[in-house]
Amino acid sequence: MLKVDLHCHSNVSDGVLAPAAVAAYARKGGVDAWALTDHDEVGGIKAARARALELGMRFVAGVEISITWANETVHLVGLQVDEDNAILNRGLAATRAGRDARGREIAAQLERAGIPNAYEGAVKYVGNPDLLSRTHFARYLCEIGACNTTSEVFRKFLTEGRPGYVPHRWATLADAMGWIRAAGGIPVIAHPGRYRFDETAEGALFDEFRQLGGNAIEVVTGSHTPDQYAIYAEKARRYGFLASRGTDFHAPGEARVEFDKLPPLPADLKPVWHDWF
Ligand code: AMP
Ligand code: MN
Ligand code: MN
Ligand code: MN
Repeated sequence: MLKVDLHCHSNVSDGVLAPAAVAAYARKGGVDAWALTDHDEVGGIKAARARALELGMRFVAGVEISITWANETVHLVGLQVDEDNAILNRGLAATRAGRDARGREIAAQLERAGIPNAYEGAVKYVGNPDLLSRTHFARYLCEIGACNTTSEVFRKFLTEGRPGYVPHRWATLADAMGWIRAAGGIPVIAHPGRYRFDETAEGALFDEFRQLGGNAIEVVTGSHTPDQYAIYAEKARRYGFLASRGTDFHAPGEARVEFDKLPPLPADLKPVWHDWF
């Protein structure tokens, strides 16, 4: 059986390895078919594809788009996109445009909370000047000893109600689905268990996604707990959605689950890649 991983980050967004190095790391972890899905950016796809093919993997061009739905940030993965598509690239460029200003506001808040120079500190970790992420702030706060882990940073800073939280309005679900479709891709709701929706709101998200033509969600992902693998497998069955799988890898040692430890999809679910390879 092919080992498929369709959610990973490089230093083109908030991962730490270059795209080719992520390909090699995934291959070492036993991956046979692999997607790079950087946040709001497809600039790493060509290097990732070249290395993946050299290493004997099937390659899927992907992206993870930040959207706002019901005042929450939601992530939508696009798979099998044409990375050169102009509509997709225009949408992603617009999505990236607000990140630097948001970063400066995050830093101003952290300064008031007693942590100076966080903008400069975060930028040191950035591989792509267009893609300053909260993850880069988290790595800097660990570096200076303000926290021990990036997840502790997110608990104490950078999230709603905490210093360094700057609300941000991203694209709509319909817009992002339009960009993915224009680029020939398949939209997938990323790590649905991560959002703070109750059952009603989550159902409304799934219904709207379906009305817009969506039919796939992530089930087994490094951003879910093992309990959530089962919960979202059940929801995929109930909604008739195809299922996706991926580590959501960002950095060696920072992952909740390494490439060789992520379980397969439950056998009765239809994988989003069922007719790809
Ligand atoms: P941004 O797109 O700049 O708002 O940053 C979001 C990124 O922060 C996500 O893609 C994750 O990589 C990371 N992140 C969000 N929440 C957490 C958390 N609780 N622990 C660790 N990383 C997180
Ligand atoms: Mn990330
Ligand atoms: Mn995500
Ligand atoms: Mn991700």
